Amino acid sequence: MALIVQKYGGSSVSTTDKIRRIADKVKAFRDQGDDVVVVVSAMGGETDRLQELADGLGAEPAPREMDVLLSTGEQVTIAILAMAMDQTGVPAQSFTGWQIPIVSDDVHSKARIERIESENLRQALDAQRVPVVAGFQGITEGNAITTLGRGGSDTTAVALAAALDADECQIYTDVDGVYTTDPRIVSKARRLDKVTFEEMLEMASLGSRVLQIRAVEFAGKYNVPLRVCSTFDEGPGTLITLEDNVEEPIISGIAFTKDEAQLTVLGVPDQPGVAYALLGPIGENNIEVDMILQNVSELTDGAPLTDFTFTVHTGDFEAAKALLEKSAADLGARQVSGESGVAKVSLVGVGMRSHANVAARMFKALANENINLRMISTTEIKISIVIETKYLELAVRALHDEFELDQPPQKVESELTPTDEQS
Ligand code: ASP
Ligand code: MG
Repeated sequence: MALIVQKYGGSSVSTTDKIRRIADKVKAFRDQGDDVVVVVSAMGGETDRLQELADGLGAEPAPREMDVLLSTGEQVTIAILAMAMDQTGVPAQSFTGWQIPIVSDDVHSKARIERIESENLRQALDAQRVPVVAGFQGITEGNAITTLGRGGSDTTAVALAAALDADECQIYTDVDGVYTTDPRIVSKARRLDKVTFEEMLEMASLGSRVLQIRAVEFAGKYNVPLRVCSTFDEGPGTLITLEDNVEEPIISGIAFTKDEAQLTVLGVPDQPGVAYALLGPIGENNIEVDMILQNVSELTDGAPLTDFTFTVHTGDFEAAKALLEKSAADLGARQVSGESGVAKVSLVGVGMRSHANVAARMFKALANENINLRMISTTEIKISIVIETKYLELAVRALHDEFELDQPPQKVESELTPTDEQS
C-alpha cells in the first residue's frame, strides 16, 4: 500500500466525461489498496478564458482580484470530480487552497508556497475519503487568495507530496512521458524511462513544457519521486529522480528554443566594470540574459579591446538593443550588432560528467551538416550552441542520430582503467 499524489492537467479534465473516467481511474488505485490524493487543474482552456474576461475590461486589473478570478477554474473541477468520485462509490472531499491551507507568500500571480498544513488532508485520508485538491492556488497569512504561476498545479502536487511524505507524485497529462527530444521534429524520439531532476530542469527550462520548472525544483529539493504519465493510456511514463549511476546514458536528451536573440558589442575597452556597465541596465529593466561570452582581448594601439556577446529572449531584443547602444556609446565601443532570429540547442546528460569528447562529437556532427556555431557554452551536464534558426531541425536530427538517442541506453563501459577501480 502506497500513498500517491496524482495530478491531472487541464486537457485531462476538459469534459465531464473525462472527469468521470478519472474518477474510475482513481477508484482503481484505491481498490488495489493505495491511498490517493488528487490535485486538478482547471478544465482545459478555462484559465485562458478567465484571463480574457479580465482583459476585456481594458485596464490593468488589481493583482489581488486577478488571482481571485483565475483561481476559480480549479474550484469547478474539484467539485465535479468529487461528485463523480462519490458516484463510483469511493467517497471524496474537495479542498480549495485555503481549506487545507496551502500558505504562500503574497506575490500575486506567481506566489511561492511557504508551508502546507497537512492535518485536514490526513483526517480525510483516515476517514477513507479521497482528498480532491484545487491546484495552482494558495492563501497568504493575510487571507488573500494567490495563484502560483501558469502551470502551477504541478507545483501544488509536488508540494503536497512532500508535505505528506508520499511515495510518489504522478503527473498525468496528454503525453506519455518525457522524450529524448520533441517527437514533432524527430519522429524517432524515444520516451525516457528515467531522467534525473537536474536533467529535467535543463530540459524544462528549454521549452520541453511537460512540467512547470518550479515543480521540478521543488521535487529535487525535497527528493519527491515524480512520474509523468499519460492520463488515458497505460504505460510507465517517465520517472524523475535523484541521480542513479546505473546505466546512465551519456546524453539523455536534446532541448532547444527558437526565440533567442543575440547581441554583440565590438571593440569595448577591456577594463574592470565593463560587463557590469553593459549588462547592469539590462538587468535593471528585468530583461533576462542567458548565454554570455567575452573574448580574449585584442591589443589595438596599446589599449586592450574586447568583444562581448550575450543572448536574450526575442521579445526583449529591441529594448535590450536600445539599452546596449546607449551603454556601448558611453564606453566608446566600436559597434553594436544583433540578430533576433537565432536558436539555441542543448545536449543534456548527467553522463557527460564521466565522458570526455562529448563536445567534440557534437561539433563534428554539426560540422558534417555544415552548420555554423555562433556561440557555445557549457555546464557540467549540458553543452549549448546558438545557431541560425533555419538550421534548428537539421541540427537536432543530426545530434539525435550521432548520439543514437533512439536506442535504449546501453550499460556504458566504465572509463576507469582496472587499476583505478577499487577492489
Ligand atoms: N489552470 C492553471 C493554468 O492553466 C494552472 C495549471 O493548469 O496548472 O495555468
Ligand atoms: Mg497544466
